[in-house]
Amino acid sequence: MSTDPRPAPPFDLGSSAFYEEEHEEFRGVAREFVAREVAPHCAGWDAAHLMPRTLWTAAGAAGLLGLAVPEEHEGLGLTDYRFRAVLDEELVRAGALGAALAFHLADDWVLPHLLADATEEQRRRWLPRVLTGELVTSVAWTEPGAGSDLRGVRTRAVREGGDWVLDGQKTFIGNGISGDAALVLARTDGRTDRAGEDSFSLFLVHKEGSPGYTTGRPLEKMGLRASDTAELFFDGVRVPGGDLVGAEGGGLRQIRRLLPQGRLAIAVASAVVARETLEGTLRYTRERTAFGERVADFQHSRFELAELATQVEVTEAYVRRAVAAFNAGALDLAGASKAKYWASERAKEVTDRCLQLHGGYGYILDQPVAQSFLAARLLTLFGGTSEILRETIGRDLV
Ligand SMILES: Cc1cc2nc3c(=O)[nH]c(=O)nc-3n(C[C@H](O)[C@H](O)[C@H](O)COP(=O)(O)OP(=O)(O)OC[C@H]3O[C@@H](n4cnc5c(N)ncnc54)[C@H](O)[C@@H]3O)c2cc1C
Repeated sequence: MSTDPRPAPPFDLGSSAFYEEEHEEFRGVAREFVAREVAPHCAGWDAAHLMPRTLWTAAGAAGLLGLAVPEEHEGLGLTDYRFRAVLDEELVRAGALGAALAFHLADDWVLPHLLADATEEQRRRWLPRVLTGELVTSVAWTEPGAGSDLRGVRTRAVREGGDWVLDGQKTFIGNGISGDAALVLARTDGRTDRAGEDSFSLFLVHKEGSPGYTTGRPLEKMGLRASDTAELFFDGVRVPGGDLVGAEGGGLRQIRRLLPQGRLAIAVASAVVARETLEGTLRYTRERTAFGERVADFQHSRFELAELATQVEVTEAYVRRAVAAFNAGALDLAGASKAKYWASERAKEVTDRCLQLHGGYGYILDQPVAQSFLAARLLTLFGGTSEILRETIGRDLV
């Protein structure tokens, strides 16, 4: 008998070891919501490049938005990221990748800023409406001339009395059309030379009552079409001083501090997409026959499936470790970047190889594998490209 006093290592990183009873209860709520409000409508949303606002209010009524909002602001205070992972699993399982992305943008890219850096007065104004789905948010950092390098952002805000006047343009903004307010990164140092660390600030800019705030048409994306993505234009938009989020000049630091959650979210979504695509491919290759055999029975298919299953399990284990670190307050930017880098590259590879196992049917857009392939292609691009992530990870090493 072993006398080693250390606890047993978590060899079983399967779903049962990762989730507890409360997560499974939450899964029941999420599953019921997805079956009722999402699954029957996904295809129509995809064709329209837009989801109805009623989806948000229904999600709010089911208690699925703003999970981390604390009880004093009418939320559930569920900061354990496993709840967000459960919601992702249920949405992706139903083929609602666009809805999963839209919720991520609000809950993982905007909400952390409202929780960490908004004033008490701002929280009281915004958080209850985030919870009900009445205030849908976007994150608006990227511009036509600045994506990876945010110091190239040219949108500027200039003080005028108690307000700020905002001029500029953003692009690739998820929820840009359906959303009510965007967390905008703007230059506030009044200069035009190369920006520094203190040159930018964040504002929650509301569409309603903001003449000069307009949106372009939905951009025609390869995949994830149900989630609207658009350009935003700001032409002399007056932003009340009370809508500055965090400190003037602190925008870049605030973004860097909260980036781990956004990157973790994409890592989790990547692992879920890879798992669901593999499961669908197993079902397909067991049913499809050629040369009198199931496609799954060809040695090549079995080797492919074996490799893919291994990749999916390794990725899940790694991402779950990152989730545990996040829950413990110990996921730093390099750690989140590694998880996103690894998982999104695996999702890209797994969906590609799964598509191949479908033969020609894999190329037909209404096949789930085609949708996953197109969705996965985004995962290595947004929220930090794989090249930028390797820069971040590398800088942390040397
Ligand atoms: C569908 C979609 C949704 C998006 N949603 C949002 C959103 O909601 N809000 C938002 O603000 N943004 C959003 N984005 C923007 C996204 O985050 C950027 O596209 C991404 O950060 C890359 O920026 P870029 O497109 O300007 O590419 P660029 O920065 O121009 O990069 C071009 C190429 O150069 C490489 N590169 C750049 N710098 C380096 C370097 N230092 N070393 C090595 N290689 C480098 C990149 O990796 C890439 O391969 C979205 C994008 C897409 C496509």
